[in-house]
Formats: sequence, structure tokens, C-alpha cells
Amino acid sequence: MIACLGRIVQDTDADSIPDDDVSTLSESLDLQGTIESGGITGVAGKDFGGLYSVKPLALIKPSGTEDIARVVNAASRTSHLTVAARGNGHSINGQAMADGGFVIDMRSTEENHFKPLTIDGSHYIDVSGGALWEDVLKRCVSMFRLAPRSWTDYLSLTVGGTLSNAGVSGQAFRFGPQTSNVTELEVVTGKGEITVCSETQNSELFFGALGGLGQLGIITRARVKLQRAPDMVRWIRVVYTEFEEFARDAEFLVTQEESESFDYVEGFVFSNSDDPINGWPSVPLDPDHEFNPAYIPQTAGSVLYCLEVALHYRNSDRPSTVDTAVSRLLERLGSIQRLKFQLNVSYVEFLLRVKQVEEHAKANGNWDSPHPWLNIFISKSSIVDFDRTVFRKMLKDGVGGPMLIYPLLRSKWDSRTSVVLPEGEIFYIVALLRFVPKGPTVEKLVAQNHEIIKWCNKEGLDFKLYLPHYQSKEDWKRHFGNQWTRFVERKTNFDPMAILAPGQKIFKRTHIIKP
Ligand code: FAD
Repeated sequence: MIACLGRIVQDTDADSIPDDDVSTLSESLDLQGTIESGGITGVAGKDFGGLYSVKPLALIKPSGTEDIARVVNAASRTSHLTVAARGNGHSINGQAMADGGFVIDMRSTEENHFKPLTIDGSHYIDVSGGALWEDVLKRCVSMFRLAPRSWTDYLSLTVGGTLSNAGVSGQAFRFGPQTSNVTELEVVTGKGEITVCSETQNSELFFGALGGLGQLGIITRARVKLQRAPDMVRWIRVVYTEFEEFARDAEFLVTQEESESFDYVEGFVFSNSDDPINGWPSVPLDPDHEFNPAYIPQTAGSVLYCLEVALHYRNSDRPSTVDTAVSRLLERLGSIQRLKFQLNVSYVEFLLRVKQVEEHAKANGNWDSPHPWLNIFISKSSIVDFDRTVFRKMLKDGVGGPMLIYPLLRSKWDSRTSVVLPEGEIFYIVALLRFVPKGPTVEKLVAQNHEIIKWCNKEGLDFKLYLPHYQSKEDWKRHFGNQWTRFVERKTNFDPMAILAPGQKIFKRTHIIKP
């Protein structure tokens, strides 16, 4: 459909769009997809966080890469318009928004690419940047019995959205984050150029876009590494009273050879209470499992630790073989013997486990409530201090949702990408996934997040925010540390007018008049 910009102009604040911009845009935008403006852009001005809302100029539903390039090119001919790719809008702090600018709904391109490839005996899938990981999973498994190797916990996220951050879950200790599991991207840069890039072709753009917070380009296609999909998963949770023991076992598991460890390692902190959300009932995997608090030693403190692991297996494996393999691995752990929960689920069911949480939360209205989440990467050298003050004191009653904590290995991350990490080989991801009702509590919890960060800074902890959010350039400079210069150079090369991803609030839109 040919876009009709005249309508958009009428629907928006006339002062904000100079006439010449509008006429220039009208001439240049000749989309195959559609443009929506006014009230129907509503979804583009909100995100999962529910903390911010803005009014975009228009929501564009492109039919493909050419449309996206046209929009970026058109914006570049104005002095002020910006462009935000919106994956599934699961950011927390307005990162996928464009106040007064164009929001590109990447989901409208989700079907554009889905092509399996075998290169030198290895399997890959080319998928759209706007595809949901859950669809990639289901299609790859049902059609080829293959699957990506590295995931996020929740899969209603887009390929481009997670690759712009990192994409972390319990497989990352072995395969690295999702950004370590792609070999080629097609990107629309901030100059409106469509560029294919990889480790050997336009490598600055390839590595820059991975973890690049959408600053250098819009990912329209990604080539994702695949492995043979297992049929089944033994999903296990065990409990610890002491952080040091939990951390020792988790670190042990993530540093073993593949044959000597589980295929998935995560963990979480929960309060030592019967609170249905934050306490003991959050641990069992099945309604039939009972968490018996009598097994918790008297010496336990205000919080406990759950190590969550999983082992892949095939339908052809005998149950006794799986039992033996699991027992052999569990034997080495120092968890409380009698607080152990196990479940056999299909591989797809396991990877879609948070979907059930979503359905449940949607049914009771919690899914749409605000989510003042905080995600941090913390160096092993600082994690004990963090636990002692933040988990055991500040958050001892929980956060109204999961408090994840598990170790990752820096050597599995490519330092050429734009992701920034703390120092040292072992670092932890900490995720405070708060589900809270609307109201004044939200501000209090945002303030508590700030307090945690302030405390980390004051104590000199070695940490970096994951899914970062800052308001000032100084803070961003500090975040990137010694990678700031490289990031700025990449921005200057690929998005010199700072058209892309304005919601990240890193760079100010500028205008360079082309000769
Ligand atoms: P959006 O929120 O739409 O966009 C995020 C950023 O990327 C924006 O700046 C946007 O402009 C940019 N962007 C979007 N698409 C593209 C593209 N194609 N090209 C370039 N830039 C683009 N993260 C993890 O790592 N592990 C987890 O286990 C995990 N679990 C989560 C569970 C839930 C319930 C939620 C809400 C989030 C979770 N996240 C997790 C965080 C998630 O990875 C990020 O919020 C991610 O950005 C969301 O993807 P999205 O597709 O919704 O992106």
C-alpha cells in the first residue's frame, strides 16, 4: 500500500513537523507496507516495562528490508526525525520508542526469511530480525529436528531485539549468549544502506550491531547456528542455605566439560518463608511436588538459593540411563539432600516454560502491570558482597517475581561485539524481575533499583548493567568504559546523524547536510 503522509501530518502536532520535512517525506516514502498514525500508534508508545510512554509520529509496518531503508533514508533528509525498530516491545525503559519519530514494527517482517543452510557440515537458519524466537524454535524442531543452541528464558522476544542486547539463558555458559551464535546479519544502517555483514565481511558493522542497542543498524536477517534438537529434558531444582555453596556448585558446573555437566544451569534466590510468590512455593516444578520446610536447616538465614539445571536426552534413552547420568551429576553437589525437584518435559515445552507463566499472569492481570526490572552483570569478585547486602538485607522479602542469579563465562562472549561486561572470567547475571501493581509502589521500586546501583558504585563493585538504561551521556560513557571510543566511532560510521534507537538516549540527533 502506498503510504499517505498527508493523513499523518493532520494527526500530529503541526509545529513538530516542518512543512518541508513532510513534503520531502511524502515524495520519498513509497512503501510496500503500511503507515499508521494517531491513536492506532498506541502500542508503539508503550513497552513491557509500563514505566514510560511517548507519542511517535507514526508506526510503520514495513513489508521488508527495502521499506525499512526507505524510512531511514527519508528520516535522514529531515533535521530531526528519528527511527526506532520495535521488536516485540519487551524493553523496560522505553528503549524501542521514538518520541515524535518513526517506530518500525519489525514483527510485520517476521515471515520474510526462514531458510535452512548447511555450510561445511554445520547447520544454520536464516531468520528475520522481526521473527519471534518461539516461532524459530517451533519451526526448526518440527521441520528439521534442529534448534538454536543459545536462548533467552522467555521466547516471545524478537531475534533482532535480543541480538541488540546479548540474549542470555542457562545455555550461555556453554555456547555463549545469542550474540555468539550468529554468523551473518543483514542490517539497514543509519545511513539507509542495506549491508550484509559477518566476521569476514563488513566486520565492524557485524560486531558493532551485536549488542549494539540498535544504535548502528536495524537487523533485518540473522544467520543462527543450529544443533540437533534433543527430544526431552530432565528439569531439576535443588536448594541451598549458603550462597557460597550455591555459587561453588554453580561455578563448578559451568566450568566442566560438556560430558561432565548439565546442559542448562541457572539459579535464583527466594525468601525463606511461605510467601506464595517469593518464598518456598516458588521452587517446586509441579503442583504435585511438596516443598517441606522441615528439611531446611535451623541455621538458614532470611533467603535461600535454588540451583536450576537441566539435562537433555533422547526418546530412545532408557529411563535408567537418564537417572544414572542425573544422579552422577547431582552427587557432586552440596545442596540439601531432601529438597530436590525433578520433572521430565519435552525440549520444546522446557524452552517455552515461561509462556505458561505469561498465560497465568495475563489471566490474573499481572502481565500488564508495570515491571521495574533490574538486570546486572556482576563480577565473581563482587558477587558475595552483593549477596550479603542486596539479597540478604535489601531484598530479603523478595521482589514480587523471580530474582535470578547464575554464573557465565566471559571467554564465551566475543569482545569484538558492543556488549560490555565486568572483568574476570566468571561473572554473574542478576535479574530482579518485579511484577507489581500500578501505583505509587512503582516509583518506590524504581528508587530501590537506583539505591542498589548507588550502593554497588559506592562499594566499588565490578558490575555492568544488562539491558542498560541511562539518561545522561556521562553515564553511558561510564557504562562503556574503555569501549566508549570504539562505540562512538562505530556510531559515526554507521549512523552519523544518530537517527536510530533514540529511546536508548545515548546520542543526540544531528543533521548533516549532504552535498
Ligand atoms: P524491543 O524491546 O522491541 O527492542 C529492544 C531494543 O532493540 C530497542 O532499542 C530496539 O530499538 C532495538 N531493536 C529491536 N529490534 C531490532 C532490530 N531488528 N534491529 C536492531 N535493533 C532492534 N533477556 C535475556 O537476555 N534473557 C532472558 O532470559 C530474558 N527474559 C525476558 C523475559 C521477559 C518476560 C521479558 C519482558 C524480557 C526478557 N529479556 C531477556 C529481555 C529481552 O531480551 C530484551 O528486553 C529485548 O530487548 C526484548 O526483545 P524485543 O524483541 O521485545 O525488543
